[in-house]
Amino acid sequence: MNLATPIENIPRIGPVFKKKLKKLGIKTVQDLLFHFPRRYEDFSNLIPISKIKINEICTVYGKILEIKTNRTWKRRMFLTQAIIEDETGAIKVTWFNQPYLTKVLKKEDNVFLSGKAIISKNGIYLSNPIYEKGDLSSDLTHTGRLIPVYPETAGLSSRWLRFILKPLLINLENQIDETLPEEIVKEYNLMPVKKALWEIHFPSSVKLSQKAQDRFSFEELFYIQLFVLRERNRFNQEKSASLLIKLETIQDFVKSLPFKLTDAQKKSAWQILKDLERQRPMNRLLEGDVGSGKTVVAAMAALNTIKQGYQTAFMAPTEILAKQHFLEVAKLLQDFKVNIGLLTGKQDQFRSKKLKNQVIEISRKKLLEKTIGEINPHTKDLVVGVDILIGTHALIQDKVKFGKLGLVILDEQHRFGVEQRAKLCRSQDIVPHLLSMTATPIPRTLALTVYGDLDLSLIDELPKGRKKIITKVIKQGEREKTYDFIRKEVKKKRQIFVICPRIEKNDDNEELSEAQMSWAKVKAVKEEYEKLSKEIFPDLKVKMLHGKMATKEKENIMKDFKNKKTDILVSTSVIEVGIDIPNATVMMIEGAERFGLAQLHQFRGRVGRAGYQSYCLLFTDSHTKKTYQRLRALINSEDGFKLAEKDLEIRGPGDFSGTRQWGIPDLMMNSLKNISLVEKTRESAKEILLEDPQLKKYSQLRAKLSRFRQRIHLE
Ligand code: ADP
Ligand code: MG
Repeated sequence: MNLATPIENIPRIGPVFKKKLKKLGIKTVQDLLFHFPRRYEDFSNLIPISKIKINEICTVYGKILEIKTNRTWKRRMFLTQAIIEDETGAIKVTWFNQPYLTKVLKKEDNVFLSGKAIISKNGIYLSNPIYEKGDLSSDLTHTGRLIPVYPETAGLSSRWLRFILKPLLINLENQIDETLPEEIVKEYNLMPVKKALWEIHFPSSVKLSQKAQDRFSFEELFYIQLFVLRERNRFNQEKSASLLIKLETIQDFVKSLPFKLTDAQKKSAWQILKDLERQRPMNRLLEGDVGSGKTVVAAMAALNTIKQGYQTAFMAPTEILAKQHFLEVAKLLQDFKVNIGLLTGKQDQFRSKKLKNQVIEISRKKLLEKTIGEINPHTKDLVVGVDILIGTHALIQDKVKFGKLGLVILDEQHRFGVEQRAKLCRSQDIVPHLLSMTATPIPRTLALTVYGDLDLSLIDELPKGRKKIITKVIKQGEREKTYDFIRKEVKKKRQIFVICPRIEKNDDNEELSEAQMSWAKVKAVKEEYEKLSKEIFPDLKVKMLHGKMATKEKENIMKDFKNKKTDILVSTSVIEVGIDIPNATVMMIEGAERFGLAQLHQFRGRVGRAGYQSYCLLFTDSHTKKTYQRLRALINSEDGFKLAEKDLEIRGPGDFSGTRQWGIPDLMMNSLKNISLVEKTRESAKEILLEDPQLKKYSQLRAKLSRFRQRIHLE
């Protein structure tokens, strides 16, 4: 057996477990060894039975005096009860629902038990301890030490993983080669891989397990940096059209706007226009809080591109947003003679420069013909009929071909810009410039990792004259008052959002895990909609919106809300990005603790867009310190970046878009908070690439990166 051996060939793993492993993407012995624990349980406190303290985690060692399993008829559960004894005393032990235990553990067996003693009316007993047979000289796997706890996915227990992993590590120890370049291991004083694998699965101390985690964190980040920097290098060698700044047009555009651009908008726009002038492709992320005015900046870049004879593709995450961008861009560019197409799932539209201010329906075929364009027989020039094509993912279908694509704008598409652009420019030999936009503020450490291959422009200021949104946590018992307040706002002709964390309430008959139970209590859109529309506001127009609805239905509901036909919209987080409803003044959020700070901030940004005093009202049933801390942070700050940093600090990076697809193990996620680690890995990746850009000397690294690339392609 070696590291590349498929798990099929591991004799100790049966067919059921093989399937489960595959589900987790574990195909080889190596994958299995690199399946890391999520955390550790410290069972190293081995004590005599007489020293057991209530509610304290401990390990005891003793002989089983008796053991039996009964069925409790009332609750239909198996109850296994035992007594174990050492020289200092004896204690009762109970396990629930593990009837097979009496097959494994027999009277007179010596066992280690790790867990907590609790007290009830039946006395003191060890409750559901982890067991392990053996004697005091045994090399323990499950008890009496720091034990690894693995992510409980796909029905694989930590006990089973420990049982499988230990012999594998013993057998293969000598085949594990260092995966990082030796000079880096040395320079950064990292734990060598062989030792680190042992210490991560079966740590000999907290300190050493930490060193092992540090090593693997370094390694993960190092790969990401290497990948990102190589992408950047690769990209820098491509060619794209140099689109010189049409200063007069830009000035006319700025003059045509009904408002004055903020300094931050001007600065970002200038950075983008400067990038477009170069012969190598722009690769820029425009980051700006909700409502900071990214669309105008994007429209300016598109205009410049068009006036240099090239097309712009503008891709949005949903149909609603694509449509909104279409109308907004059409309005912004109405004096500049551009043809704009809208290509979405079903309904395509077109706005011709000839038909001023008029939008027409157009067939898909026609729109695609206009997009690819045709050669003028006299001048031999390519003439395209669409200057800007706006749409959803539909834009990257094979059928859509651009005649002369110069710029790709991606709204809220995050990481995959490079991929999507690749698809968009299949048909031509120059690479279009790429502008990604996001309202998700990304803390610096994360931006360096996740967007390390992009240049960054920030719109870090909101247009003047916006009123501060009043944010409040509503206390229990003030719900009625809040509903009265909402009624008053509706009387003033304002509109209300109500956000719920989930779509449906769980079926009561379902058996739920504890985590699911707490979810089940969370407010559901359907239930809340029923309540609000029938009981609380029967006289008002209440509508509901969620992700499981058909696109058309969603669009109609959004449209009605936008056209003020609805007073209250009860929704899941689907309204999160980009929707512009200037008349909305109240954002009411149920189960606020369920959302990340950055996301809450995004919701809040949906209101207060038109100068009316607006409100963000937070409801929560969670009274933990963490919730309190987080909601306070939201109340005290309007700065998306600060909130994102805070979120990272309090919750870790798990929820940030753009981190998941790197497949960083949970245990290493925390390392993303560590800016000095991120910078170190970036430096080391740079050094390696400087010395050996093709990684000729590093076959291990090349292999790893190609796996990375595959994973990203698959997303
Ligand atoms: P986002 O950055 O969230 O995409 P938008 O581009 O949708 O923001 O802009 C939000 C609103 O602000 C739009 O109605 C837009 O017309 C307006 N806007 C943009 N820039 C300015 C500005 N400098 N002054 C005033 N209003 C602006
Ligand atoms: Mg937007």
